[in-house]
Amino acid sequence: CGVFGVIGVTDAANFVALGLHALQHRGQEAGGIVSHDPDQGFNSARRFGYVRDNFTRQSLMETLPGALSIGHVRYSTAGGKNPVIRDVQPFFGEFAMGGAAIAHNGNITNANALRRELIERGSIFQSNSDTECIIHLMARSLQRTIPERMEDALRRVEGAFSIVAMTRTKLIGVRDPLGVRPLVLGQVGDGWVLSSETCALDIIGAQFVREIEPGEMVVINESGVESFRPFRPRPSRFCIFEHVYFSRPDSIIGGRSVYETRRQIGVELAKESPVEADLVCPVPDSGTPAAIGFSQESGIPYAMGIIRNQYMGRTFIEPTEQIRNMGVRLKLNVNRALIQGKRVILVDDSVVRGTTSRKIKEMILDAGAAEVHFRIASPPTAWPCFYGVDTPNREKLLAATMSEDEMREHLAVDSLKFISLDGLYRAVGEAKGRDTGCPQYCDACFSGDYPVEPSDQVEKGFQL
Ligand code: 5GP
Ligand code: SF4
Ligand code: MG
Repeated sequence: CGVFGVIGVTDAANFVALGLHALQHRGQEAGGIVSHDPDQGFNSARRFGYVRDNFTRQSLMETLPGALSIGHVRYSTAGGKNPVIRDVQPFFGEFAMGGAAIAHNGNITNANALRRELIERGSIFQSNSDTECIIHLMARSLQRTIPERMEDALRRVEGAFSIVAMTRTKLIGVRDPLGVRPLVLGQVGDGWVLSSETCALDIIGAQFVREIEPGEMVVINESGVESFRPFRPRPSRFCIFEHVYFSRPDSIIGGRSVYETRRQIGVELAKESPVEADLVCPVPDSGTPAAIGFSQESGIPYAMGIIRNQYMGRTFIEPTEQIRNMGVRLKLNVNRALIQGKRVILVDDSVVRGTTSRKIKEMILDAGAAEVHFRIASPPTAWPCFYGVDTPNREKLLAATMSEDEMREHLAVDSLKFISLDGLYRAVGEAKGRDTGCPQYCDACFSGDYPVEPSDQVEKGFQL
């Protein structure tokens, strides 16, 4: 998901709509905006579909006045797979000291246990979302201010959370102690901005100030930014897959350009797993920077062997298997004239179920390619993510049940190679690879090393 918030600018909701549009790659199912105006109080709009199809209508934006606003773009991980508007954020709660709205990116790993406990004690849940637990925990807190209640609530929450929230007068940002999901602070005119990624600061002409640190809470009002440390400090574990796939390549994370990291992954891949071929082709768009790096390192020409229909979204982030299956062909087509008779290296960011790679291999061979070699910009995805990226159950992950060789046979390609975990760490700037004693990143979907125990899953029988 993507979160965004602005304080201290006229018609803040318009800025939020633009920010969410720039974060649309983080969630395409639905979006929502809440704003506050001293005369009109809180207002909110939550809609299915793209930001540009909803939050560009003047009649809707006029209902969201005020200089303080937050928003969310949703991609369902927790909660039901049947999209219902009740699950669309931001969520709103009315407390004794006033209202608060909250937008959350990540996944709470003890949400089932918390929900059970809260329901037993009388909370009435409105949604299927893990995020709603935070509102109910805040309602039960005895603290006197909303930021303090939020601290109280979040100390009971486990897992990944980057949160943008607002009261009548304050914009609040929080990152979980491990800092699994990103969150940055920016400045626009006299106002302040919180955003999942820097690419959404650019769209409104905001200046990047700094990242919110893992375990940090910032409370922002007209007089500036106050910083708090509500949690016990722990070594941070940022999601390495944000670098591989999730974030936009024009964003800067931890001082590193996401594009440059991806290009470097391609360089590492070409060093680790070279192969003789005529063309290096990306599987667009997510494989493109890595394919450029592979081509530069190997000297094999880069070419657009697969053309993407710009009017399709991300195939993976589609609710059902059937739509996802169709999705590949609706989205990608082979550039026949280029491919015919050629030995082709295809670079993609990841293999999850193997659906994309299988379809693409078929299309490339149909078009008359002589050989097909897959190079994948992440290690085999053998474990589900419980921190906010929607990977399927273990049984559906190709790499959970097959070795690299078996996967190559299953996909029936001439070769299939994944970047090593050490190679990936080198690409993100860890010269020594992963084993420095204290991994800098979460890489659980590749290593099975979960930095926070996924306790709801363990309770349901998940074997670590
Ligand atoms: P598959 O078709 O193997 O199930 O999925 C892999 C494809 O899904 C890749 O092309 C990748 O770009 C795309 N993808 C989109 N969203 C995600 C995600 O959240 N996780 C992973 N691992 N891949 C994703
Ligand atoms: Fe990111 Fe993978 Fe960790 Fe999930 S399990 S937070 S996708 S590195
Ligand atoms: Mg892809």
